Amino acid sequence: MTTLQDCRALDAQDPLRSLRDLFALPPGVIYLDGNSLGVMPRTAPARVADMVTREWGTDLIQSWNKNHWFELPQKVGDKIARLIGAGPGEVVAADTTSINLYKVLSAALNIAAQDAPTRRQIVSERSNFPTDLYIAEALCRERGFELVLVEPEGIAQALTAQVAVLMLTHVNYRTGAMHDMAAITAAAHAEGALVVWDLAHSAGAVPVDLSAARADFAVGCGYKYLNGGPGAPAFVWVNPLHTDRCWQPLAGWWGHAAPFAFTPDYQPAPGITRYQCGTQPMISLAALECGVDTALAAEPLGGMAALRAKSLALTDLFIQLVEERCAGHSLGLATPREHAQRGSQVCLTREEGAYAIVQALIARGVIGDFRAGDPSTGSGRTGYQDILRFGFTPLYIGFLDVWNAVEHLKQVLESSEWQRPEFSRKHAVT
Ligand SMILES: *Cc1c(COP(=O)(O)O)cnc(C)c1O
Repeated sequence: MTTLQDCRALDAQDPLRSLRDLFALPPGVIYLDGNSLGVMPRTAPARVADMVTREWGTDLIQSWNKNHWFELPQKVGDKIARLIGAGPGEVVAADTTSINLYKVLSAALNIAAQDAPTRRQIVSERSNFPTDLYIAEALCRERGFELVLVEPEGIAQALTAQVAVLMLTHVNYRTGAMHDMAAITAAAHAEGALVVWDLAHSAGAVPVDLSAARADFAVGCGYKYLNGGPGAPAFVWVNPLHTDRCWQPLAGWWGHAAPFAFTPDYQPAPGITRYQCGTQPMISLAALECGVDTALAAEPLGGMAALRAKSLALTDLFIQLVEERCAGHSLGLATPREHAQRGSQVCLTREEGAYAIVQALIARGVIGDFRAGDPSTGSGRTGYQDILRFGFTPLYIGFLDVWNAVEHLKQVLESSEWQRPEFSRKHAVT
């Protein structure tokens, strides 16, 4: 049995505990939703204010040179690269995850068209984040490809001679299940397919080594575990073997080799710069840089390996305490217990009341979120039941937070507080 005192002791021994001070955590809140929108770094308000008042307000257009605005997507990209096993000059922070996915998926199809033109399928997971599936569906319609959706256990079998691209999200947004990136990439390559990885729930949360895995393309999100702020620019990585082989489809002037030559024809820039499209949002990039710096602040303390160790300790503890203290309340576990298969979140299932329980917790200051099940698939599959989702960002969540979150959950369940009518009212964003 782990006690409240044990949790306090774990916090006191935590080598990463100082990192919490980098964040402006609102008082009275246990924030278990950093996998949806990361907490604001303390440096962000002043940095954004400086960019607005001095760089924009005073320096105006000179800022593109004087304040290095023009290189900011590459500068932030190089910082993100350190978190995902990519080299300098291989990542650019730009646009959104959805848009970047369109670029890389399209480029992957271009490469497949050169190397393996008879392959006409994109394979993905049915429970992938919907925008990934929608973008793939749109591209398939445009190009005459077929989108094949499988369950995780069916991926290996789906890798046939028809497959051009395997597109997966490394950590599943619904269940927190994590794929073995190196093994799946190797299996796909052995069958002649390219692999696109979405790192939305991985970057800053779990160790990623794109280079070691010999992945082909990757995209990821700036506002989740990278703490870049709402709508922060996303990022894109392309294996240097492929970068200069083809254009990406959104060939805007920021991806041109010489944008200020203003030539009527397009000449793609060498390297990842060609994956930029148009003018990038400088104020948002400034905030994103503050967020990425919070994850890099862990480097002298053991980096992603230390963050991973803490993340697993937090999620292990949450699972254990829920099972010990909330037993008899019909909660199920959708997240794998095996460490190698778990991201940085824990998802609980419940036949009834998942949405209302999450709302009751939020009213108590314990912020998680709800993800609806998929009615077309039935309730027999864990992955498709209604989910109570709790993200554990090891940069700012502590062991006492875990204890307190479970105590609130226990009280909400025992008191039937969640059955109050106001907790069943649906909001636009869940
Ligand atoms: C959060 C998330 C996205 C978000 O895409 P946007 O274009 O930023 O809205 C995409 N894919 C996955 C897997 C995600 O988790």
